[in-house]
Amino acid sequence: MAVAPAQYTEKTDEQRAITEMVRQFADEQILPNAEHFDHEDSFPEPIVEQMKELGLFGVTIPEQYGGMGLDLTTYAMIVEELSRGWISISGVVNTHFIGSYLLMKFGSEEQRQKYLPRMATGEIRAAFSLSEPELGSDVQAIKTSAPRHRGFTCFVAEKEPGAGENTGELTGLNVPPKLKKMGYKGVESTELVFDGYRCPAENILGGEEAGLNRGFAQMMDALEVGRVNVAARGVGIAQRALELALRYSQERKTFGKPIAEHQAIQFKLADMATQVDAARLLTLRAARLKDDGERSDLEAGMAKLFASEAGRFCVEESIRIHGGYGYSKEYEIERLYRDAPLLLIGEGTSEIQRMVIGRKLLQRHKI
Ligand SMILES: Cc1cc2nc3c(=O)[nH]c(=O)nc-3n(C[C@H](O)[C@H](O)[C@H](O)COP(=O)(O)OP(=O)(O)OC[C@H]3O[C@@H](n4cnc5c(N)ncnc54)[C@H](O)[C@@H]3O)c2cc1C
Repeated sequence: MAVAPAQYTEKTDEQRAITEMVRQFADEQILPNAEHFDHEDSFPEPIVEQMKELGLFGVTIPEQYGGMGLDLTTYAMIVEELSRGWISISGVVNTHFIGSYLLMKFGSEEQRQKYLPRMATGEIRAAFSLSEPELGSDVQAIKTSAPRHRGFTCFVAEKEPGAGENTGELTGLNVPPKLKKMGYKGVESTELVFDGYRCPAENILGGEEAGLNRGFAQMMDALEVGRVNVAARGVGIAQRALELALRYSQERKTFGKPIAEHQAIQFKLADMATQVDAARLLTLRAARLKDDGERSDLEAGMAKLFASEAGRFCVEESIRIHGGYGYSKEYEIERLYRDAPLLLIGEGTSEIQRMVIGRKLLQRHKI
């Protein structure tokens, strides 16, 4: 369906094979089951088990640690396909991907060996914890503190599998019951409560010498790849909304013809398809620049802003095209309508992206 120029959307044989495999997985395993897990708000365990078998927890983890060693561009292509199925499924690998990126880039060799092989198989999963109850956008206002802290430092904190209240060496880290959400159901979104938790110095990301006070730059770096990740999720949900609209508009008839033959509906489809392609192009450009070792902060911000807004736009247009049926839980678009707004928030809201883009623009074009 894509009509974007080849230099950004062209896939290598490996990328084609893996995205086709993930698309088939989404068609056969995610899409037919998403409604059930969304309705129950229960963790999609059987789907996640299959993702482990497909190696999807180790896409970007180097082969020496048991992963596939693929680049950010291929990862973004995979995330688009997973999100086209259900953004909650991509959510299971997303913070995990950010955690593994942080370990690969800033972790000590000891930390990499300790965590990455088990992360590559999905045996353990990573969460990325930056927000606090009183802050999200304003990261510098973080209040969580460790003894004798001077600046911002990242810690690798472990928890017991499945435990709400940790015991033994991990006492002091508690995970309250999951938050009830409008959409993005199935995956647990929880708080982590640290109170009297003792984290050994060796768990400072990169080790004490290399990692102390480096947390802010590390987290900002992680957010950059995180933005490409959210952008890819925006492309996936926008693509799915377009597919649903294309199908429904050719089936539903009013005034004696399929609604797709009314110009007003065709204009909606045209705007949606244009947004999907533009979002995909921006996302793949940001990913490719990062893979090539070039600066991509501005481009990642643009991709995140545009693709998450494209997701919201396409879902809203699609629900309009579905008329009254779109408001019914019997139609998939209703779930997408509840899921899409999340992408406007995480990894920096649209307002924060505009601030980032504006600042980077002025830095690059300083007179
Ligand atoms: C389902 C879900 C999952 C999440 N998962 C994670 C996670 O895994 N890890 C994690 O660390 N966090 C997570 N978050 C938190 C998320 O990153 C924050 O909600 C987000 O960064 C926004 O922060 P906030 O909610 O505190 O909003 P605020 O920062 O309070 O912003 C409120 C509003 O003010 C606007 N605003 C703020 N500052 C400015 C400004 N300077 N100029 C103009 N407008 C401004 C914002 O754009 C927004 O519209 C999650 C949130 C949700 C809903």
